Amino acid sequence: MNEPTNTPMTLLERKATSILQRFYGYSSFRPLQLDIIKHAINGNDCVVLMPTGGGKSLCFQIPALIMDGCTIVVTPLIALMQDQVSALISNGIPAATINSNQSDADNRRILDGIYEGKIKLLYISPERLLIEMERWSKEIKISLIAIDEAHCISQWGHDFRPDYTRLSKIKEVYPDVPIMALTATADRLTRDDIGNQLKLSNPRLFLGSFDRPNISIKVHHNLSASSRFSVICHMIDKYEKDSGIVYCMTRKTAEKLNQKLMESGYRSTLYHAGLSAKARSEAHRQFINGDVQVVCATVAFGMGIDKSNIRWVIHNNLPPNIESYYQEIGRAGRDGANAETILFYNVSDLMVLRNFVDESGQADINREKLNRMVQFAEASVCRRRILLSYFSEQYNHDCGNCDVCSNPPSRFDGTILAQKAISALLRLNQSVGINTLIDVLRGSARADIISRGYHKIKTYGAGRDLSNSEWRDYISQMIMTGIFEINYSEKNRLSITPYGLSIVKNGVTIQLARYVPPLLKQKNKTTKIETLIAPEQQLLFTLKELRSRLSKKYGLPPYMVLSDKSLEAMANKAPIDMSQFCEIEGISEIKAIKYWRPFVTSIRKYKGITQPMPSGQSESETLMLIEKGHSVKFIAEAKNIQETTVYKHIVSLIRNDKLKSFDNIITKQQYLRVMDLYRQHREVMYEILRTEMPQGLPGVALAIADFLLRRKANENK
Ligand code: ADP
Ligand code: ZN
Repeated sequence: MNEPTNTPMTLLERKATSILQRFYGYSSFRPLQLDIIKHAINGNDCVVLMPTGGGKSLCFQIPALIMDGCTIVVTPLIALMQDQVSALISNGIPAATINSNQSDADNRRILDGIYEGKIKLLYISPERLLIEMERWSKEIKISLIAIDEAHCISQWGHDFRPDYTRLSKIKEVYPDVPIMALTATADRLTRDDIGNQLKLSNPRLFLGSFDRPNISIKVHHNLSASSRFSVICHMIDKYEKDSGIVYCMTRKTAEKLNQKLMESGYRSTLYHAGLSAKARSEAHRQFINGDVQVVCATVAFGMGIDKSNIRWVIHNNLPPNIESYYQEIGRAGRDGANAETILFYNVSDLMVLRNFVDESGQADINREKLNRMVQFAEASVCRRRILLSYFSEQYNHDCGNCDVCSNPPSRFDGTILAQKAISALLRLNQSVGINTLIDVLRGSARADIISRGYHKIKTYGAGRDLSNSEWRDYISQMIMTGIFEINYSEKNRLSITPYGLSIVKNGVTIQLARYVPPLLKQKNKTTKIETLIAPEQQLLFTLKELRSRLSKKYGLPPYMVLSDKSLEAMANKAPIDMSQFCEIEGISEIKAIKYWRPFVTSIRKYKGITQPMPSGQSESETLMLIEKGHSVKFIAEAKNIQETTVYKHIVSLIRNDKLKSFDNIITKQQYLRVMDLYRQHREVMYEILRTEMPQGLPGVALAIADFLLRRKANENK
């Protein structure tokens, strides 16, 4: 994708691509990744701006693996460092963290590992780095310093952290080490500030695309609390075996929702900044491990969460700006598989947010940001176009994966509806809120309507033809378009604006967007979905179950075993042997070795294949690893077999003409030495060579000699 196909790859590019395949199981880089990697390896500073899930981590992890020394990764949240490190280790990448949650002895041991050059990536918090940096001797070779969540350094950003400002010291201590600052959110001001604050030298800005096409975007307007709850339940049911997040504006809302979900039998947990550190880390752990289906959270939840298989995100309330919104929905579907997001947009939230904004420090900027958020929520054009244009990105087609694209709102002349509502409210002396107004319009016989005599007014029951939900939506639209106002200080009483009055007095007409009911829970919940779904889906369920068993066995969260995206690919391709298994995207070598057998066995069983696995399986495994450039030592360790067994495989592969290139196995000198001894001292040759080379290698040399003879004979035919 990055390279015009006819330019040959440079050595560095080949090396980076081979690491991408071996350690991550991906076949090609995403746009910019390779440029960023080369830029850093060449010793240059840069600022990388890509959305959450865009693929920033590889940009410093691959240089770390290629360069001499250890790469330092500065990241703000200690609680999450261990996850990031575990994910790397599960792919065979030597990473570690030094932090205050670990014992001094552990930290010292890791430091020793760095001195010995055993650790290629070290995750650390900014405050800890500043302390350690003073102590580290120059003997530690630092290859690169990556600063994640770099927007935290800027006062302009939305998540300023004072500890970050002191990172300017890094350049003083390590003027020659390249720095890579990475963030998913930064407006232009913040972007420039990052480079200045860190004193980067001539930093290049890499601005990635903010598009996340696998995330679907939906906005629901003005749902009642119970409808919102139903939508949430529906989502959980739909992704029964996966997990999602509901973001709430306040701790209280999150608490209530969590309670209600648990009472309804869902596996739900709560996360907000008011909980104890212990409760928070427990919630986090449950979520990461997939023990809960949903976390009800405030915005405090999510930064640095690497869980790649979050299948959905719901905003129970309107976020205050598009940056936060986009970052939060961006936590869904990081593995690239489809994910869904829904935003509930309610007038009452808007009013609360407006008050927050007015009282905030930078009221003008924040008001403008809120307005942009509202425009997004109310828009009737492709939502992704709005989002991407907000991030100054060219995107000139409709996305086909948002609610507007899939269901364009239809508009109708709403003048008569507005007139009914306005005149009812006039007759009610503008003394009621939205619920009572709807009840009057729909002719409710509620006791207090009757006792107050509201049933006697002329418009009582004039709107019987519409449901409560329809009226709620239309009146909310009327509030948003400035026909009514809500008076919060007076029990949310509605009042009519001069514009509203002009509709009944001066014949002004208005348009409304037709109400679309939300997709709710199927009534018939007992229908067994499994029997109705496509075979691939069925297999996917089976594979997910297997993954959860493996996850328990190895004490790793399911997504660290294999990603959802890889499982989906597996369900589609249904590999029935090791080599087919290795073709699946996103499976690193070490994982392929660890997991191919259980998955392939399960797929064969699913497909009803009863013959045993092809024999020589283990040999072809060896072949694949050799072809990918692994050493015999590594192969033996990874497969948990003796090196001599690997050499036996190699001999057999050569004798069967399956292996024809020997660079990684034996050097020319070794080959010549064996052949020399073979000719002159055949009887004692193994005796002599025992101290010179691995035990199985002479056999390999002889097999190569035969191979060369065979080839020559063939050429002469
Ligand atoms: P970010 O740090 O920008 O939020 P990550 O680095 O976590 O994003 O990457 C998001 C997901 O995309 C991860 O699951 C990662 O493995 C995957 N990914 C990254 N680069 C590639 C690539 N070149 N091909 C396929 N998947 C990739
Ligand atoms: Zn769209």
